[in-house]
Amino acid sequence: MIIANGKPIEEVLKSLEGHKKVAVLGCRGCVTVCLAGGEKEVGILASQIRMAREQAGQPVEVLEGTVERQCDYEYFEQVKDIIEEADAIVSIACGVGVQGVAETFPEKVVYPGLNTMFMGANLNVGVWAERCQGCGNCVLEISGGVCPVARCSKSLMNGPCGGSQNGKCEISKDVDCGWQLIYDRLSKIGRVDSLRNIIPPKDWSTSRDGGPRKLVREDLQLESGK
Ligand code: SF4
Ligand code: SF4
Repeated sequence: MIIANGKPIEEVLKSLEGHKKVAVLGCRGCVTVCLAGGEKEVGILASQIRMAREQAGQPVEVLEGTVERQCDYEYFEQVKDIIEEADAIVSIACGVGVQGVAETFPEKVVYPGLNTMFMGANLNVGVWAERCQGCGNCVLEISGGVCPVARCSKSLMNGPCGGSQNGKCEISKDVDCGWQLIYDRLSKIGRVDSLRNIIPPKDWSTSRDGGPRKLVREDLQLESGK
């Protein structure tokens, strides 16, 4: 899922300076699961904004709403009324959702309430870690199911850089060396010999390096008749 984290309240309050009626908008997708932007967090942020503005002698009316997914723009219909009523929106979805609000309501001011971080997994209570960078051409089959793009700090494709020590990456003793993980995993599944195969240069045009990406599934378009 997409992992995001709340912006410092001071930053949100700074964005909202001068606004008299704002809507805090949550999303029931990834940000609810990672406890950053669901219904509960909408209530908490709305209260924080009200209290801070009250204390500053600049009261503000805060409306609250949460939709199924802010990355599916049709759901904005559910909260159209509060968005139209407010003079600014704080979206606590990922960056896709914030842009969804801006695209759907082009005349409205929208601010991000979260920092969108990465695609990752929940490892423990309150612990998430990056697992995929959406490179557009998955190579997990050659690396034993451990991503060299996301888990090696240099996204190396043909083994370690030589800087790792005791299984840790040279950038930090708190970061596992991705290639140590790949080696350990391939050893476990009896495929360590596959490391002798040289992996040709990766085509990064399917990644962000190729510019903004778009997926068009013609089969689904045909099915839907659109
Ligand atoms: S190889 Fe690419 S698509 Fe596969 S997990 Fe890594 S970044 Fe994601
Ligand atoms: S130490 Fe390991 S994870 Fe870090 S950059 Fe080198 S190969 Fe990649």
